[in-house]
Amino acid sequence: MHGLYIHFPFCSKKCRYCDFYSVTDTVVINKIIESVIAEIKLRGTEFHQGEIVDTVFIGGGTPSLMSPEQLEFLMTAVRKYFRLADNTEITIECNPGTITIESLSAYRNTGVNRLSIGVQSFVAEELEFLGRIHDAGEAEKALVIASEAGFDNINADIIFSVPGQTAFTLEYTLNKLLELEPAHISAYCLIYENGTPLFNDMKSGKVVKYSDEMDAKFFEVVSGRLTAAGYEHYEVSNFALKGRKCQHNLKYWAGCEYFGIGPSAHGFINGRRYWNYRSVTNYIRYLSEGRLPVEGYEELTKKQKIAERILLGLRSEGIDTTAFKSEFGIDLLQEELRFFEELKISGYLYFENGRICLTTKGYLLSDEISVKLCSLIEKSK
Ligand code: SF4
Repeated sequence: MHGLYIHFPFCSKKCRYCDFYSVTDTVVINKIIESVIAEIKLRGTEFHQGEIVDTVFIGGGTPSLMSPEQLEFLMTAVRKYFRLADNTEITIECNPGTITIESLSAYRNTGVNRLSIGVQSFVAEELEFLGRIHDAGEAEKALVIASEAGFDNINADIIFSVPGQTAFTLEYTLNKLLELEPAHISAYCLIYENGTPLFNDMKSGKVVKYSDEMDAKFFEVVSGRLTAAGYEHYEVSNFALKGRKCQHNLKYWAGCEYFGIGPSAHGFINGRRYWNYRSVTNYIRYLSEGRLPVEGYEELTKKQKIAERILLGLRSEGIDTTAFKSEFGIDLLQEELRFFEELKISGYLYFENGRICLTTKGYLLSDEISVKLCSLIEKSK
């Protein structure tokens, strides 16, 4: 079954660290929703009639800037042009400061059954540093009203290694989060993406980035606290209570196919990746002419597929060695056993039911381990 990602490209204000595609001029919201529906129709009927979708993820941007009526319009189109499986996971990203209990209840009536809330921190100075529109009180209120609106599958995003953050303030955010008990937590290390105001401030010396060692310490605190509280650390940045893993993201990590709809969205269909124009103007123009707004396609080579399967597998629930062997004809446990044994002895890796999995300590080195493994595979050919 496929996943369906819909990108809503509007935000009230750009956050300092963000490089996702979004614009703050909301004049064309209705036009974009019409165009997104046109793309859903094109992809759902002409190109992929009858595809069954069992995860829908409406991300952004700030999709919670959509009114319940606009969301209803969108979801009606999704249901009309795709076949949704029973119990489809339908997530919408929400920002504190843009939601009310009434809007969330109305979202629920459209069939949305999972919320992903951009909390980021419960510390005023950290939210201010990140350039978020909400304050700590609104972050807390967002999680409370999400439950009151009837959602029991809620994700909270947090960011760690924010300049100025200390062991104490991180602990404060984690404690507050655990009191509110969301079913799922995504914890990201602050990234200095090229071209963002944060990156420029780091380059000019206005902001000093924490060292990699500090990033690792914060990561270990987050992982330790959340796993002790009963969350499973099932991907480098993701933690879930039992039965609450994000089904949509699991598809990305397992290399499953998914549709990407909306400006800048990426998709992976029929073994080919595609990416849409990162421009609301181009996006609207293409769809008004009845064309898919695709800027480019890419067919992955075998080498790229191997690298991707290794990286995504090691960052999440491990590499399934049986599936890997049947897909690529490589028996990892036989051909690279020595490499894995060394990592296992050093505490970076373990074997479980035919899977090669990283420990928390191993997650910190997932990129390096993947690169090394790919180069060993290349050499042994
Ligand atoms: S609200 Fe989210 S998408 Fe919008 S600018 Fe901030 S981080 Fe980026």
